[in-house]
Amino acid sequence: MLTSTWEDRIRPAVRVLEPYAWEMSSEAVAERYGVPVEQVLRFDTNTSPFLPTNLTPTLADLAARMPLNEYPDTSYGALVEAIADYTGFPADQIVVGCGADEVLDLVAKSFVEAGTRAVVSQPSYAMYPVLVATYGGELAAVPDGPGFVRDVAAIARAGRGAGIVFLCNPNNPTAHLIPLDEVERLVGQVACPVVIDEAYFEFSGVTAAGLIVRHPNLIVVRTLSKAFSLAGLRVGYALTSREMADVLNRVRPPNSVGTLSVALGAAALRDLATMRARVAAILAEKERFTAGLRSAGVQVFPSATNFLLIRVAEPGRVVEALLRAGIVVRDVSAKPGLNGCLRATVRLPEENDRFLVALGKA
Ligand code: PMP
Repeated sequence: MLTSTWEDRIRPAVRVLEPYAWEMSSEAVAERYGVPVEQVLRFDTNTSPFLPTNLTPTLADLAARMPLNEYPDTSYGALVEAIADYTGFPADQIVVGCGADEVLDLVAKSFVEAGTRAVVSQPSYAMYPVLVATYGGELAAVPDGPGFVRDVAAIARAGRGAGIVFLCNPNNPTAHLIPLDEVERLVGQVACPVVIDEAYFEFSGVTAAGLIVRHPNLIVVRTLSKAFSLAGLRVGYALTSREMADVLNRVRPPNSVGTLSVALGAAALRDLATMRARVAAILAEKERFTAGLRSAGVQVFPSATNFLLIRVAEPGRVVEALLRAGIVVRDVSAKPGLNGCLRATVRLPEENDRFLVALGKA
């Protein structure tokens, strides 16, 4: 007779794991609210409203001769070369993954085990607690000060005896940016690996990458999912020291980034003019959207990114009114420190206007 089941074998950490949660899918919104699915607008994912149309010729060219019957080259040569040209880092200090999320996973896999203390600021990107819990670590959350300004001194203190620090800069979901001199002071005080998640770097223009030469424990994580309009391709990368890159590459799956992603990711990185024009358009539109929200009586926090953290009196009612208009925002109002807060991506002017009109009906 069987005395135990496969379910008894689930790791205790996974048994109690709270997975990363998304907002409702566009299809579900369409069905529930009677909005045509193509009219549903995602303000919840911090992605680009611009289709990567600049890559269409590359895609057409590739389609004719793409060797999809074979694996991609495990070193992702063409993509790494393009990242090297974009960042000024040599190939052996670049680690590529299937989105920044896989790169973060490689870091957690390398440095977090049962009992490892992992420092994060709170609130921050929801995947850090998931990763830390997955590998059995213990989260040490350092709450933000007033106005979501990070308490860098407290993070440094917590980081001293810790196994790893995850710092998102600028931060998701608060959009707050820690100035570079403060990041440098923090990194100088902490001996463990320090991840600076720069998923939104192209919007802030501030990077810790220049500190890596003096701090081999520093890992700067980036993505093509935001400014480069390629969330669907899943390409992320780390810039770090040669020694750290060696460690991360040991646990990296050999082929998690597909052939199309390698080729189109490289092409996107070779068309920086398009990326920069789109970033400039989004940053200009952010000012207009912010002004519109403020005149609707909404509190808008300062933003160094392509999204806004806003605070409203009745978040539930606002979320519902927006959904009725086919608009999905990130409802973070139940998270610690985020009372009344929603997160909204800056999209195209006409889309942001739809947001403002729907908000007026809340
Ligand atoms: N880090 C942060 C701070 C993010 O906001 C996101 C995306 N929501 C990621 C990492 C993951 O990005 P990717 O699409 O490259 O996996």
